Amino acid sequence: MLCSLVEAGDRLIVRDETGAELAGGSFSLVEISSRVGRIPRRISFQDGSLFETNDNDAVDRFLAQKGRAAAGIVHRLERFHPRLIAFVAATILLGGLIYRYALPALVEVAVAVTPPIVPRIMSASTFETMDRTLLDESKLDEVRRGKILDGFRRIAGVSAAGERAYTLNFREGGPIGPNAFALPDGTLILTDELVKLAGDDDEMIVGVLAHEIGHVEHQHSLRQIYRAAGVAALIMLVAGDIGSGAEDVLVEGGGLLALSYSRAAEAEADRHSVELMMKAGLDPAAIARFFELLETKLDDHSETSILSTHPGTPERRKAILDLIAELRKG
Ligand SMILES: [Zn+2]
Repeated sequence: MLCSLVEAGDRLIVRDETGAELAGGSFSLVEISSRVGRIPRRISFQDGSLFETNDNDAVDRFLAQKGRAAAGIVHRLERFHPRLIAFVAATILLGGLIYRYALPALVEVAVAVTPPIVPRIMSASTFETMDRTLLDESKLDEVRRGKILDGFRRIAGVSAAGERAYTLNFREGGPIGPNAFALPDGTLILTDELVKLAGDDDEMIVGVLAHEIGHVEHQHSLRQIYRAAGVAALIMLVAGDIGSGAEDVLVEGGGLLALSYSRAAEAEADRHSVELMMKAGLDPAAIARFFELLETKLDDHSETSILSTHPGTPERRKAILDLIAELRKG
């Protein structure tokens, strides 16, 4: 049955499609339940009749017209609801438990069952978006490119997925400055600005690229995306509605870019760089030199800087050098 909620003078009336009055009562005596996510609103009339509707916005508009929206909040606070508080506490606790224990496991399952086409599509669209909005053609000369490519092929060649799994692209970074990053399908992007920052230390650049290969081999970005999706689902579960921030991360093409890796992921990628460089017969401390350079040369705190995605450099440098010492002993 299609009903409509209308006001008539100081009365609120529910009519059916023929216009016949089903229920009604004085507006000041009608009780309207508060908005909780997508749960239907209950409108209780004084005579005991009850009207339920999913059209939350219409009810809010109606209340706003009547100047009861703000009053409603006070009204809600005034009435003490021990059961509601217990319910909210239980929901928050459950959300916390899911976040802590179930989410990491679900992320692992999702990563394991993701067909290879998914990271390929995500990577291609992200790269395309970046090329359109941020990056420009590289101005690096062929000789320098060749040298970096040689080193890159050496480390890609000793990686688990092999040389053919990775491609290196040179670009001018523009707003993202000195940077290097890997898309989940093995597409690596290196900016001219980072090459310039490295001076003539090509081995250091290769160390950074080995770190990026580490992110790909550990599937860090896919994990981050599923984590974000899982968190958004949790928000939806608890709040009944998806937060607009979470939606942006998931829907917009820049999603991959907005993600930064966890400290644990960074440490894993650092370790990967050390191992790949050693295997390829290159200097495993190259990545540590890069962090040293970042500390001394680059004092850029902008959001898109490589520092924002690669934090805590003195600690990381020490961890890398400790690891090398340990590997050399063994
Ligand atoms: Zn990294």
